[in-house]
Amino acid sequence: MTLAINGGSPVRKSYLPYGKQCIEEDDIKAVVEVLNSDYLTTGPKVLEFEEKLKNYVGSKYAVAVQNGTAALHLAVMALNLEKGDEVITTPMTFAASSNCILYCGLKPVFVDINKENYNIDINLIESKITKKTKAIIPVDFTGQAVDMDSIMCIADQYNLKVIEDAAHSIGSKYKGKMVGSLSHMTTFSFHPVKTITTGEGGGITTNDKDFYEKLLLFRSHGITRNKEWLGNKEEGSWYYEQLEIGYNYRITDIQCALGISQLDKIDKFIKRRKEIVKIYNCELSKIDGVILQKEESFSDTCNHLYIIRLELDKFSATRNEIFNALKAENIGVNLHYIPVYYHPFYKNLRYEKGICPHAESLYESIITLPLHYSMIDQDIFDVIEAVNKVLGYYRN
Ligand SMILES: *Cc1c(COP(=O)(O)O)cnc(C)c1O
Repeated sequence: MTLAINGGSPVRKSYLPYGKQCIEEDDIKAVVEVLNSDYLTTGPKVLEFEEKLKNYVGSKYAVAVQNGTAALHLAVMALNLEKGDEVITTPMTFAASSNCILYCGLKPVFVDINKENYNIDINLIESKITKKTKAIIPVDFTGQAVDMDSIMCIADQYNLKVIEDAAHSIGSKYKGKMVGSLSHMTTFSFHPVKTITTGEGGGITTNDKDFYEKLLLFRSHGITRNKEWLGNKEEGSWYYEQLEIGYNYRITDIQCALGISQLDKIDKFIKRRKEIVKIYNCELSKIDGVILQKEESFSDTCNHLYIIRLELDKFSATRNEIFNALKAENIGVNLHYIPVYYHPFYKNLRYEKGICPHAESLYESIITLPLHYSMIDQDIFDVIEAVNKVLGYYRN
């Protein structure tokens, strides 16, 4: 069959996006109720969402913020590190996982990925620890939990703090425990392509009261009205003080109403994502030249992303040609991620190619396939058909 990119008819008539939110009538109703209420922001819905989030992940505290990047920024701020301190992270992530380190005047140190499961390589972390290393920010890439027992063991040994970037992994479990209370702080994103959404939104969960209080303070300018924190001064109830330099990273009640409604449905979202992944795994593993991400037995994964890796020597086309051919079949392919230090901004900070060879070679050979709750079975089969069609055409 002629590929759509060569003038043939595409596998699908309509374009299938790689990720998409699912908004239903009850979500809309929840948001409209807030619009008709007294509070648009910093009202009861924020607390209710935080309560729900912490109960869901099983942490003591949760702080909801404006987006996942703000969550990372506040979490790093709460560590109270000194300029020039080093923080270890993975290059196979969205730039925000590393930018949050730079926001605080700290130095990101990239540790290569495990070439099978694509998460930070546990065995390489120690070799990058110096006297200045103060923290690790592992990312649950695609939703698969990192081996947190091993990371916490290293952290304890070297007195490091761990912030788990769980933007992909809400609802995933590690050794039976929910992601969200496994490290010192865990950050989430509720961007529309993630498993649940608030439009823009993020959250931090922690079991540490000290971190929790710092996060609250930094979320709103460093200003507090908490009488205890202000030393119980004899002032009116209007009184507040700025104790630190913070930001306005507050989330609105409008967003949180949507978050509450979305979190109520997370089980069905997760169930469907797992069903889709199961069909993909079954059908795509049969295709010669396709490598799937290794599934570690310690992770019960709710996938945010589904990624195939190509054995490019088996094909007469480049990854980009295959990518474009799939797109022409109306499959919304994407690519996650460009290694963070490839970006010009990082190049200017003197990060050089070659520091994480596995991440670099993964980047050369991957394609992200569509994965979201609203995909019907025919959508899944269209993706599989298109992959078979395109790879069949180009196979040597
Ligand atoms: C989405 C994402 C973020 C940032 O979240 P936003 O809500 O878009 O700010 C951070 N880290 C990773 C790994 C992400 O995928």
